[in-house]
Amino acid sequence: MKTNDLSLTRNIGIAAHIDAGKTTTTERILYYTGITHKIGEVHTGNTEMDHMQMERERGITITAAATKTLWTYNNQKITLNIIDTPGHVDFTVEVERSLRVLDGMIALFDAKGGVEPQSETVWRQANRYSVPRIAFVNKMDRQGADFEDVVAQIRERFQANAYPIQWPIGEEEEFSGVIDLLQMKALIWDDDEGKSYHTEAIPDDLQEEASAARDALMEALAELDDDLLDKYFSDPESISIEELKAVIRKSTISLDFVPVMCGSAYKNKGIQPLLDAVCAYLPSPLYIGGVTGENPYTQKNETREPSAEEPFSALAFKIVLDDHAKLVFIRVYSGVLQEGKAILNNRTNKKERLSRLYQVHADKKKAISKVEAGDIVAVVGLRDIRTGDTLTDVKNPILLAPIVFPEPVIGIAIEPRTQQGLEKLSSSLDKLAEEDPTFKVTFNEETAQTIISGMGELHLEVILSKLKEEHRVEVNQGAPQVNYKERLTATYRHRETLDLRAGGGHLFAELDFEIGPADEVFLKSDEYKTGKTKLQFVNICPKEKIPNQFISFIKKGFEQMMFNGILAGNEIQHMKVKLIDGKHDPDNAQAAAFEVCARNGFRAAAKEAGAVLLEPYMKLVIVSPEEHVGTIMSDLNRRRGLPKSQELRSGATHINADSPLSELFGYVSDLRTLTAGRASATMEFSHYAIVPENLAKVIVDKYTGVYWME
Ligand code: GDP
Ligand code: MG
Repeated sequence: MKTNDLSLTRNIGIAAHIDAGKTTTTERILYYTGITHKIGEVHTGNTEMDHMQMERERGITITAAATKTLWTYNNQKITLNIIDTPGHVDFTVEVERSLRVLDGMIALFDAKGGVEPQSETVWRQANRYSVPRIAFVNKMDRQGADFEDVVAQIRERFQANAYPIQWPIGEEEEFSGVIDLLQMKALIWDDDEGKSYHTEAIPDDLQEEASAARDALMEALAELDDDLLDKYFSDPESISIEELKAVIRKSTISLDFVPVMCGSAYKNKGIQPLLDAVCAYLPSPLYIGGVTGENPYTQKNETREPSAEEPFSALAFKIVLDDHAKLVFIRVYSGVLQEGKAILNNRTNKKERLSRLYQVHADKKKAISKVEAGDIVAVVGLRDIRTGDTLTDVKNPILLAPIVFPEPVIGIAIEPRTQQGLEKLSSSLDKLAEEDPTFKVTFNEETAQTIISGMGELHLEVILSKLKEEHRVEVNQGAPQVNYKERLTATYRHRETLDLRAGGGHLFAELDFEIGPADEVFLKSDEYKTGKTKLQFVNICPKEKIPNQFISFIKKGFEQMMFNGILAGNEIQHMKVKLIDGKHDPDNAQAAAFEVCARNGFRAAAKEAGAVLLEPYMKLVIVSPEEHVGTIMSDLNRRRGLPKSQELRSGATHINADSPLSELFGYVSDLRTLTAGRASATMEFSHYAIVPENLAKVIVDKYTGVYWME
């Protein structure tokens, strides 16, 4: 059986802030690599990657799509798997999960805007996942494009050891190509479609700049490699291009260096060298090496090497439901899997069969008969699957670290316009929630309303329009509301007895327990952080008092109550229960009695444990001309915002603040009004913090008021 040569594979993503040109760049890549035969434009709405109608309308990329293509580099065909990632912070989770399965990244910047707040978010995430990256300064043709300024920003703001390996030829309208600082040659594009370019001597007027840039690059590279350093001082002429490339590759992969390139995706310049650089400097799956996970049977860590010889392992990183099937995107880490074979889902511990395997190109897919280590493909046939699940060989289970998703912070009540819509609504919402792990659907018993929750106003807007466009369900919607949480702040001891006789039956249980906030250690545990449980449960009750088989029911009773906090029915962030003592009826002990007793015990005890109300805070970045800063600050103050820092950058003031989400609805448009459209803001979830007492009272009264009216 012929297997992939993994050294010839690159799994990469393109990440950037919105409008930097990700979609355009991806389009050009597909065009130059021969996947598409026509150049697609974002503004004419025929791009391959942004295949959802809504995305076309908005011109932003919401869903990550994976595409495979080939590029010839050094006479070898290199397989490129490209993951398109969205740039809006409401969808950071898409970026996170993409980064999780990528080996390298192109970080795209706008030559005019430079490093924007969202570029910083993505860069930090890439650091967290140790993803090597190449920086590409796009839009060199734009008025106000400033390559050197962007390079300086990347260095300063990210503390990155970033150096140009290319230098632009001509600015703005005149931008015609790039100087390759390794070869010291000019690359000039020949035609409008940018299909070919030729090399020529560096134009006279750029000789000096280019030499200076090359010197700076050489010096930086010499710092990174002792052999190169020696040669650099003794005999710089003897240094070959291949040697330089090797140092760039090594240091890029070890995250000690970031090569910076430039071009204009829109004007079809600079893409081919970018692809060459991806092949030359970003790592193959082989270079990344094995993945480590836990063997669920032995609880010991094991490693799977990126080889077809190893047992099969893969991570499901995205689920897409199309009309007919559930497509699950997986990254294969080890082994080979044939179509139709069974795999083990390590979360459910169930065997499932993969009936179809596909290579995906945006919205087109091609059936294939096997997948193997290093591949990114889509599979069909899995029934019970969630994003982040590990799929393995049936006999060789391993649990790879799951993808951690943030919890939704904003919700909105919806109801179908027609009675017939009710069933359709619920099944459509289920489907949407399956695709998007940061979107949650709940049903509020008290008000009989369906609540959908997500990561921000835009996220919910997108969900609602999907509901309308793709599922054809019309809904009425309420005003958005933040998702409050509750937390206990004190530890309280309580004894609860259940002694119930009804209809000839008898339920008896007694629990003596302490209830309060969880310990720091628990809050740092994977169990808590991955959302597996929010209850730290400690049992020191003697076995003869409460036999072991009832303990899980007691735990379940408390866990259930955590969804319905004591103050205003909000979820409890975390909680510790220590079961100290208890009693059971040896002649008639029933699990249900313990579960009910735990619930009653919670109701009685949690009241005494200093419950507080928590609200989500957003991290806000506002960019504004100096003259509006005063107005913005006093408005922020009214919104209970907490300014953290202010700095002047390329002529605009950047204000960083934390602010309660409940005060930020419609903020982006309010800000526009306030500053005659001259300031802009981005926000992302930061943390939960205690609601001030006077406001908390209003919320609790409103809740209990509704409650008592029933
Ligand atoms: P994305 O949000 O990062 O996917 O960005 P898009 O690819 O959708 O591009 C945003 C806008 O910038 C579109 O109007 C593009 O036509 C435009 N654009 C993309 N690349 C360039 C470029 O190199 N030069 C110029 N002038 N405009 C570009
Ligand atoms: Mg896009």
